[in-house]
Amino acid sequence: MRDQVTLTRRVSFSSGHRYWIASLGEEQNRALFGKWASPFSHGHNYVLDVSVVGSVDRSTGMVINIKALDAVLQANVVADLDQKSINDQVPEFSDKAPSLENLLLYLAARIARSLPPQTKLLALRLEESPLLYGEWENGKLTLTRSYEFAASHRLNSPDLTPEQNVELYGKCNNPAGHGHNYVLEVTVQGSPDPKTGMMLPIDEMDHMVEKLVIDRYDHRHLNVDLDEYKNVPATSEVVAQHIFEALDGKLPAKLKRIRLQETARNVFEVSAPE
Ligand SMILES: [Zn+2]
Ligand SMILES: [Zn+2]
Repeated sequence: MRDQVTLTRRVSFSSGHRYWIASLGEEQNRALFGKWASPFSHGHNYVLDVSVVGSVDRSTGMVINIKALDAVLQANVVADLDQKSINDQVPEFSDKAPSLENLLLYLAARIARSLPPQTKLLALRLEESPLLYGEWENGKLTLTRSYEFAASHRLNSPDLTPEQNVELYGKCNNPAGHGHNYVLEVTVQGSPDPKTGMMLPIDEMDHMVEKLVIDRYDHRHLNVDLDEYKNVPATSEVVAQHIFEALDGKLPAKLKRIRLQETARNVFEVSAPE
């Protein structure tokens, strides 16, 4: 029997923050944070998933008692951040940008040192909004942004006869096609800039994803409108591969993975080699 088990616990907190370093002047703040620079705060309902790993205790059958884990999260996350203005009330951020990246590093350090010795912090996932979350794992940070596009396609292989295509793809081979509201998650990896606390300017990433993917794919028939799908089956596996290729090396941080959700029940993923 495998000894190590991972447990993930969710906790949430609502906090205010702003991208404005008090010790810098207006001009410097605007240069650093661009359109996000503001001396006024705004808020998020953060959702934090905390994954810990450890051996299962023979007598209790647990990796860690959830009550003990909740006590750690209450003291180090909720009591510290919930209903607080992060820049004003959390000393660590009095002169440091409270970005998702910096919050993850801060939370990882606090949680890791407060766990009992037999339990190790494996990963954190911190969601700032349904369109943006960051992950921490073994000191590595990633940021994931969600996009949407609606497109139609027809599953049809030029290597097969019409009968074989119908046999293989069924109603997805319908000559007129059918459509999906695709959800595309793009994940990048990097280290935060010491000044901005961000691994990349999100608006530059949005701009590139929109230009290279969304503008080309949204409200199109993939087989008809996009040359790359004219002679291959436009399955989500193939679409995911093409989207990865289109973005790889083009974003302001290293592309780690893309996830393409075709329906609520189908998700396809392409990752960069380790
Ligand atoms: Zn914010
Ligand atoms: Zn389909």
